[in-house]
Amino acid sequence: QIIKKTEILEFVNSHLNMDDIGGLENLKRWLRKRNKSWLESAQKYGLPAPKGVLITGVPGCGKSLISKAISAMWQLPLLRLDIGKIFSGIVGSSEENMRKAVQTAEAIAPSILWIDEIEKGFSGLNSSGDGGTASRIFGHFLTWMQEKEKPVFVIATANNISSLPTELLRKGRFDEIFFVDLPTHRERVEIFKVHLQKRLKDPNVTGDFQINDNNLHQLAGLTEGFVGAEIEQVVINGLFEAFYEERSVTLSDFEKICKQFIPLSVTQAEQIKGIRDWA
Ligand code: ATP
Repeated sequence: QIIKKTEILEFVNSHLNMDDIGGLENLKRWLRKRNKSWLESAQKYGLPAPKGVLITGVPGCGKSLISKAISAMWQLPLLRLDIGKIFSGIVGSSEENMRKAVQTAEAIAPSILWIDEIEKGFSGLNSSGDGGTASRIFGHFLTWMQEKEKPVFVIATANNISSLPTELLRKGRFDEIFFVDLPTHRERVEIFKVHLQKRLKDPNVTGDFQINDNNLHQLAGLTEGFVGAEIEQVVINGLFEAFYEERSVTLSDFEKICKQFIPLSVTQAEQIKGIRDWA
């Protein structure tokens, strides 16, 4: 069955490997103990039917990346649901949209349903709620999560879970909730390694620069507070310095960018400080 991209549901084709992701060790370890057949045969072992995981953390820390890598590792189709659009009222009725999304995931089960930025759909709700559409959909979703008969693994990703209903977060709803924090020094070393290895292919561009422990630690030391997406940007901008001057890249190119770059975490901290000072 071919699933075309719709406004709310997108079939994501991924060949990402777990090794393409630096850090996120707890989550990787948890996943490595599980595989595709866990989805189908957990109950034979007297285990509860797999439900899914909720992954939360700052933007750009690899939540989308790992969702794609799970699908590639388990060789299961991945459907990304844009939950914000379900409620936007632009594409059909919200309840019908949600029902179709779930049905599609079940039709191709075993499968993975990735609900990206789940807070955009379910912020501030509860299932008994006000009887409004959003509360009803949330209630149906919880029931489906609890009782689904087809092996559909749900990955919910969120930048901020503080506004999510506690019913969604309580024990037993997801198999596990993972918090992805800003990468540590060691994790930044890994992330730099991933992106430098991915991009430095041409010996003329690489020149004398080496992806060795010394250089990786040097760069990691200059990037405290950077998320993975920002580290990738440092690598790209560093390479651009070399490209602009038509020469091979050097450690100084990357160091220069690290020193110029203000990561979002710092900007946010400054904003909060600014508001505090003002108040
Ligand atoms: P958002 O909440 O904004 O969607 P996210 O947490 O889902 O962010 P990703 O989309 O997974 O972040 O990351 C954006 C890009 O940053 C990735 O495509 C990847 O190139 C890089 N990146 C982020 N985290 C990592 C990581 N841990 N290892 C390697 N690359 C990373």
